[in-house]
Order: sequence, then structure tokens, then C-alpha cells
Amino acid sequence: DSFVFNVLLRIRPQNAREKLDMCRKCVTCYADQFQVVLGKDKAFTYDFVFDENICQQQIYDTCVESLIESCFDGYNATVLAYGQTGSGKTYSMGTAFDVNVDPEIEGIIPRAVNNLFNGINIRKQKAAEENLPSPEFNVTAQFLELYNEEIIDLLSTTRNIEPKVKKNLKIHESQDGDIYVAGATSRTVTSPDDTAKCLQDGTLLRTTASTNMNAQSSRSHAIFTISIRQTRFVKTIEQSDELESISAKFHFVDLAGSERLKRTGATGDRAKEGISINCGLLSLGNVISALGDQSKKATHVPYRDSKLTRFLQDSLGGNSRTLMIACASPSDCDFMETLNTLKYANRARNIKNKVVVNQDQASKQIAALRAELQQLRIEVMEYRQGKRVAESDGEPIYSDLHHENVMLQAEVDRLRSRIKAMQQVIDSQKARNISLEVNKATEMVVADPSNSLDISKVIEKYVAEIENLKYVIVT
Ligand code: ADP
Ligand code: MG
Repeated sequence: DSFVFNVLLRIRPQNAREKLDMCRKCVTCYADQFQVVLGKDKAFTYDFVFDENICQQQIYDTCVESLIESCFDGYNATVLAYGQTGSGKTYSMGTAFDVNVDPEIEGIIPRAVNNLFNGINIRKQKAAEENLPSPEFNVTAQFLELYNEEIIDLLSTTRNIEPKVKKNLKIHESQDGDIYVAGATSRTVTSPDDTAKCLQDGTLLRTTASTNMNAQSSRSHAIFTISIRQTRFVKTIEQSDELESISAKFHFVDLAGSERLKRTGATGDRAKEGISINCGLLSLGNVISALGDQSKKATHVPYRDSKLTRFLQDSLGGNSRTLMIACASPSDCDFMETLNTLKYANRARNIKNKVVVNQDQASKQIAALRAELQQLRIEVMEYRQGKRVAESDGEPIYSDLHHENVMLQAEVDRLRSRIKAMQQVIDSQKARNISLEVNKATEMVVADPSNSLDISKVIEKYVAEIENLKYVIVT
């Protein structure tokens, strides 16, 4: 499957401020060639390249819908939005989920959530139509913020009352390699509205260091996670039903702004924040470099250098289908930031993730046993057909009869093709004979100047010939 780690570049339209300042556009997209050119000659290639003319629906259909579909089959997925503040990360992700937003410009999360619940209904309906027991789904949402290397639970109910009380949230790894935040709130959601409520509640709690909407989210990473656990019935080869339990996680990551600290003009506390955010993105960059570097394959990947990379370990070179959306401004005033984003995203292109289905132990074992059963059935059938025989020491071998059969079959095939070749020779000889006969008859007619040739004699000659030939064919 090639859709495992893809990088998408999205250039937003110029905003009113940039138009007012008469900024010039310095980015040209060639979507068909998956190429973008910055300035005159800085060209980069990605898995997808979209300019301002792409709409939210198209992005979703092209790159995200299939991820939701594969969640139903037990594969993890991740969408990461990267780029400087104001480049369109939140717009693309739909992290600031507003129920009143125009459906046309809804971002990825609300679309994915609708898609997910639709998919659940379709699967339940299908089971009902086929008279199968209904599959069960358990969907939960988590909303975390990583800020100054600290994990903040945006869905924590105690946070509303006592925002200063910090739970000590830590990242853990379970026995089967699943990475999770111990103690973080997981809310069960049963509809798109439920899920929208989680996003809204969480967004309200996000760090508000400034009254400016964008400054609020520019220095922290927001990770919205949907977990899907599914218990479904599968038909075995005996046509009986068997329970199978699979799960998948979908991370939606709205990263902190990638701009360099000096550009923000921050000082004091704000500057400290800026530095540590750059630290999170810096480790992400280092992880991306280590993963993408094909020359030194077995090097250490520094996942543990930051909370962000540790938490997203699976999404980066691990068990997840991941889409990285690099967002950038088209204007020349952002030239350097855009160049940095293009370079950063370019390094990520070499990452290869390995995906496996998340099945529970019992289901995994059952699937393995089922495969073994299938194999044994084939073997038994081969014994029955006499294709295999058991040696005295119990080692199975293919019988002599079978070997002889194979050889005879080859001989038959060889003879068949010889017959075919001979038939072709016969056909061409026949054609030659006919033309010779025609020439002969014509000569007879031409040779008789009086034209008093006895036609009946000619006919008689041919009838005799036909009779002869009939005899040849029968023998
Ligand atoms: P970020 O989250 O990267 O800081 P935002 O997503 O908040 O940036 O985008 C900044 C502004 O630009 C917002 O007002 C948003 O509506 C607008 N915007 C971003 N991308 C697009 C786009 N592709 N089309 C239209 N408006 C956009
Ligand atoms: Mg944002």
C-alpha cells in the first residue's frame, strides 16, 4: 500500500492584509506534476500539491476519506498540519470546530467524524440486511494539548473548576506497543454532534496567552484523537459466524506555528514559550530526518526527545497511515518561512510507515488458526486425490503417480502443439494444390484453340478426383 506516509502541500489564498500591503505572490503550484516552485527556481515535489483553488471537500475526498475507511479495517491513521502561524493549519484541520460554520468550508475533523458515523450506520444496516448480528462500535474522543513540554487534558472536567490544578499526565507504552496518555479523559461519543461538543469544549480550554485568536493556538500542539473499537462477526469457511474485535486510532494534529522566534518579536515569558515550542517541532524535524535518511538506515530515532514525538511515535515511521499537510502562505513577505516549510516537508517524503491491523489477541489467534485450517484442508485434499502420499517415516512427499501424471501431461501438451504445427503445414499444402489445379484447368482451356473442349470430360475428371479425396479423408 503506497498510501502510508504522504505529504501534501497546501498554499492558502492571500489574506486581506497581504493584499492591502500589495504583497506579491511568490509561489506557483503545478498540481498535475505534484510540484511547487518558490520564487524563480526553488522547486519541490510532494505527494499532493494544492493551491488556493482547492476546496476543503476535495482535500478530504482525495486524501482523508480512505484513512477513515481503513480505520474500519483496524488501521491507525494520522493527519498532521504543519506550517507557520496563519498559514491555514487550523482552517485545514477544522480543529476550531464551530457548529455554525458554513459546511462548504468545514475542515477535515468534522468531515471525518461525519464519515465515521455514517460508516457505522452503513455497517449496521448491512448486517441487518444480511441477517447477521449487528456489529458493535465504541467510539471515544480525546483532546490533548502539548504546551511547554507539558500535557494538558482539554477534556478534563476538573479543569473547568480548578484550571490551575495540573494532573500529572505521562505518556506510557502498553505491552503490545500502544502509546497512550495515562489518566487522560476519554469521552464516549455516539454522534457527530457529540464529537463536535468535545472539540468545542476543548478549544475553549486551550491556552489563552493572548486575546488574539491565532496567538492562542500558535505556541501549542493540539491533538484530537478518535479511537474506534469494533466487534464484528466474520464468516468462517464453514459459513459459521465468529466474533472479531479490532480497533484503530485516528490522530488529528494541529501543530504549533513553525515560525522562527525572532519573527514573533516575543520577549520574556513569551519568548520562553516560543523557544520550547521550537523544541517540539525541532525534535519532530529530527525524527523526520532520521526516518527519511535512507543512507544510514538503522540509526537511533530520537522519539523520546519531546512529548510530541513520543506521543506520535506510531504516526512517524510506525503503525499508522499518515498524511502530513504542510501549509504555506503565497506571499513574498513570508518567503523565508515558506522556504523553511517546503524544506521541512520535503524531508518527510522519505518516511515509510508499516501498518498492521490492530486485532485483539483472541481474534489474532483465531485468524491464525483459520489460516492453518485452510492449509490443512488443501493438504488433505491432495492426499485424497493421490497427489501426495506419506512416506514410512511420516514425511509427506508427492506420489510417483503424481510425478508420472505431471510428466505425461507435459508429453500430451508437447504432442498437441506438434499436431497443431502439422495441421498448419497441411493447410498451406492444400492451398497450393488448389492453385496448381486451377492453373492446370486454365491451361487445358487455353491450349485448345478450337475451343471445342469437352466440358463433360473436365467435370468427369474433377468428380473422380473428389471421390478420391473423400476416400483419403475417411481413411
Ligand atoms: P493557522 O492555524 O496555521 O495559524 P489558520 O488556519 O487560523 O492558520 O488560518 C489563518 C486565516 O487564514 C484564517 O482566517 C483562515 O480562515 C484563513 N485561511 C487559511 N487557509 C485558507 C484557505 N485555504 N482558504 C481560505 N481561507 C483560509
Ligand atoms: Mg491555528
